[in-house]
Amino acid sequence: MSPTSASTPGVHETLAALAGTLEGSLLLPGDLGWDEARAAWNQAVDQHPSAIAQPRSVRDIRRVIIAAREAGLGVTVQPRGHGAADDLAGTILVRTSAFDEVTVNVVARFARVGAGVPWGTLLTRLDGTGLIALSGSNPDVSVAGYLLSGGHSWFSRWKGLAAHSVRAVELVDATGVLRRVTRDSDPDLLWALRGAGGLFGVVTALEIDLYSAPDLYGGKILFPAESAEVVFGAAAEILLDAPPELSLFLGLINMPDIEAVPELLRGRSFTQVDAVFVGSAAAGEALLAPVLSIAPVIANLCSEFSIGGLGDVSGEPQDPSATLDWSRTVSELDPATMAALIEAFHTASYAGLTLLQLRPLGGLIGDPDTGADGVVGHLDAGFLLFASAILPPGAPAPAASERHLLFQPLDDTVQSVGVARTVPSFLASGQDLSLAFAPAELQRLTEIKRRLDPENLFRSNRPLPLGPETRTRRAEPGASDALD
Ligand SMILES: Cc1cc2nc3c(=O)[nH]c(=O)nc-3n(C[C@H](O)[C@H](O)[C@H](O)COP(=O)(O)OP(=O)(O)OC[C@H]3O[C@@H](n4cnc5c(N)ncnc54)[C@H](O)[C@@H]3O)c2cc1C
Repeated sequence: MSPTSASTPGVHETLAALAGTLEGSLLLPGDLGWDEARAAWNQAVDQHPSAIAQPRSVRDIRRVIIAAREAGLGVTVQPRGHGAADDLAGTILVRTSAFDEVTVNVVARFARVGAGVPWGTLLTRLDGTGLIALSGSNPDVSVAGYLLSGGHSWFSRWKGLAAHSVRAVELVDATGVLRRVTRDSDPDLLWALRGAGGLFGVVTALEIDLYSAPDLYGGKILFPAESAEVVFGAAAEILLDAPPELSLFLGLINMPDIEAVPELLRGRSFTQVDAVFVGSAAAGEALLAPVLSIAPVIANLCSEFSIGGLGDVSGEPQDPSATLDWSRTVSELDPATMAALIEAFHTASYAGLTLLQLRPLGGLIGDPDTGADGVVGHLDAGFLLFASAILPPGAPAPAASERHLLFQPLDDTVQSVGVARTVPSFLASGQDLSLAFAPAELQRLTEIKRRLDPENLFRSNRPLPLGPETRTRRAEPGASDALD
């Protein structure tokens, strides 16, 4: 970014003036509540933005955008902070919690969801409607942050990657104009927002498809840690013939030896299969029978459930914590590679809670037609792998070498079957979109970014690798005209 010239107001003056014009609030470093407000969900990321805006209206967002341009700052939107990635120096951090609208249209089967709404809120609102939306595993993640970065859902084998369910996006662009983006109004931008959505503006609301799913069945099944190979093999076998309405997430979990963990689980390791089936309990039980009989079952929590209870299937932590992540997409896992992966996970030691998750893909996730209208596209791959280490409360921030110790053995094991494409929502802190998309798609995104945000005002946690990160041109004049 170019430095602010002597004739323009300084950063401090611009931000001070902005604070006085907002219906919502603007916090500056040192203000009361600054440290709580700047904290991300992932506490391993220590972020120090120039200011934090909590807008209450589209007009507030416009004012933030205009002020950021005047002050030579960037704008980063972070509703929940699950995807926090860097220190945010030189940006205004925008929190969208006031954008909390949830409107469900049961007849037309769509929902309108504000940019601050977490999945848990939307899913609870869908209880009793017989409809579902394409949520992932964690109810605390925001609907906007997840869908704008692609979204791998419990229902993706059935309906494709979740970003394709986005019908319309409302965003305030770099000139302060509120745009409603649909397939008719701007098909190129809608394509880009379905997976690279943090690059083009501050999204205020999304409209998304809902799907009929009157019956849901599933839950968590726990097995001994040493059963992983046979359990994963049986689960993968089931999915070869199962209808795409069945989704299984396979996991290895090491529970930390700390008081916060129930005594029964403390310090122990487990193999787990998390299952979601769109259909009756009887049909779901029949599909899962082969995996239930292949190894001793420690606990089987499968039952009928309503969509509001989807987050209980995996039971992931929802409170903020310091987390390190790793992920890879792989073409296949033959029995030898699967065994090596399991071994690599168990030998990489760590004090906190560690999880390795294998998400078998397939179904409409791999369908080019389903993926044609969004950059997240389709994944012609066998598994999405995800590993996570959650540090014990109060543990010091991990050094880079610790991260290396934990994840490098996993990386080495699957290197030969790695696929050069993934869903951006699974990229780790610091990774850019070149790990998710092909060069032609990155080029198309770059052109759209140049058209809409030539100054690179909007800083996504998943940036483009090259080009628009360099500030070369000014955006169209007249931004302040759009204010009122
Ligand atoms: C425990 C856990 C479980 C998860 N499970 C899944 C899963 O099952 N499937 C899956 O696909 N992903 C999953 N994720 C990843 C998650 O979907 C992404 O990290 C997502 O981007 C988080 O959204 P957020 O709003 O909560 O995070 P934030 O860090 O607040 O936002 C992430 C990014 O989204 C963009 N963004 C968000 N809102 C706006 C807006 N209003 N306007 C413009 N840009 C915006 C910005 O670029 C921002 O940097 C999981 C993450 C965690 C921590």
